Amino acid sequence: MKAEILQLLREQEGYVSGQDICRRLSVSRTAVWKCIRQLKEEGYRIEAVQNRGYLLVQSPDRVTAEEVSSLLKTEWAGHPVIFLEKTDSTNNEAKRLAEAGAGHGTLVIAEEQEAGKGRRGRGWSSPAGTGIWMTLLLKPDFSPSRASMLTLVAAMAVERGIRAATGLETGIKWPNDVVTGGKKVCGILTEMSAEPDLINHVVIGIGINANTEEFPEEIGSRAASLYLETGKRVKRGAVVARVLEAFEAYYRIFLETTDLSALRAEYETRLLNKNETVCVLEPGREWKGTALGIDSLGRLLVKPADPSAGGVKTVESGEVSVRGVYGYV
Ligand code: ATP
Repeated sequence: MKAEILQLLREQEGYVSGQDICRRLSVSRTAVWKCIRQLKEEGYRIEAVQNRGYLLVQSPDRVTAEEVSSLLKTEWAGHPVIFLEKTDSTNNEAKRLAEAGAGHGTLVIAEEQEAGKGRRGRGWSSPAGTGIWMTLLLKPDFSPSRASMLTLVAAMAVERGIRAATGLETGIKWPNDVVTGGKKVCGILTEMSAEPDLINHVVIGIGINANTEEFPEEIGSRAASLYLETGKRVKRGAVVARVLEAFEAYYRIFLETTDLSALRAEYETRLLNKNETVCVLEPGREWKGTALGIDSLGRLLVKPADPSAGGVKTVESGEVSVRGVYGYV
């Protein structure tokens, strides 16, 4: 009910009367009063004026279920929101919940991850309170071979969500890193549980450095945050809401063809590698070429620099990393 009250207070310009809240949520005045008291304890500044009602003056920068839910305008993404102060990894928690029957659209979000994950066993720095560490659980009914494209869909959603919430223009480093000023502001890790021709579930882990002021030395030269880039603190809940709304919109388009044919052009407008020289790091082999864009399956199209290597190659994400010639992008 706290989420609904917050939503009512947010929708209204000016005061909302206690009576109005009771009527619209079909609850007692005491119940409303108790919720308002709890919200105040959680850091919301709510003014209560006799005969006028309640006014939300300020919200804390939290990513609790009620904060995120009250900001969210989606049909299924983020319903429900499961909030944890601390977890090992939101992907792991989402997988555990999926096994226990959690549904499509469940969002797991934590203030802190103790064992945040990158690709191929790498770590993801996820200190408490500054970042957005979340995982969206999907239970799609398309073929497992299609799932790897969701990671590109998620990158598009993060880019659009960040732009909507902060105005910051970011780009995408293929396949799914969201980058600003040559540094990574968001990493995405998609994991799947599947049978040969059936997906049990897909978890899309999204880590966004939001209000981070400084990074551990080992990643400092490659990591950016929304705060460091814009000079302004963001309300993380608003970023989460805008990213989920964008994901829902892009996912709908993806489902029409279960590939990226209708999203490809837009993805490429954000693709930082496009028409740039890239270094393709395959296990045991490295080669250079010019990235031309992606195909409708999300593979990177690269024209090898070495003329004897033949024509344009399609590079699959799986085991491959792509770097710029002079740095990360
Ligand atoms: P690629 O996907 O191209 O192989 P990557 O090295 O960026 O590259 P990921 O698995 O996406 O790999 O991310 C993990 C890496 O990101 C870590 O090895 C570390 O270098 C870096 N990293 C860890 N935490 C953060 C963070 N909070 N912000 C930015 N970068 C981070």
